[in-house]
Amino acid sequence: MVIRMRHTRAHTANRRSHHALKAPTLAICSNCGAKHRPHHMCLECGFYKGRMVIDVAAKKKARDERLQAKKDMIDAQQGFGQEVAEEAPATEEASVEAPAEKVEEAKEEK
Ligand SMILES: [Zn+2]
Repeated sequence: MVIRMRHTRAHTANRRSHHALKAPTLAICSNCGAKHRPHHMCLECGFYKGRMVIDVAAKKKARDERLQAKKDMIDAQQGFGQEVAEEAPATEEASVEAPAEKVEEAKEEK
């Protein structure tokens, strides 16, 4: 910072007097009692002003099914060759042993 740009402490403090964070105001859902932003739909149940705007439960169910189908597809692809399944435990053992060696090395250095 160039000297020409420097402000007094008071000038800086006055500017920063507006930097404090404010807690967000929240309204309570009339349907489920959860807190939500005022003038916004409740994210827990999808209600706004006493009526359902979005069927959150149905959306969540559809999403879970979609993710499960994706996981099943990935599992099926990995299970296609048995070699992958056999190699996996070996790498896990190696990763478990590696940190123990590092700990021993760290003790020796001290
Ligand atoms: Zn709600």
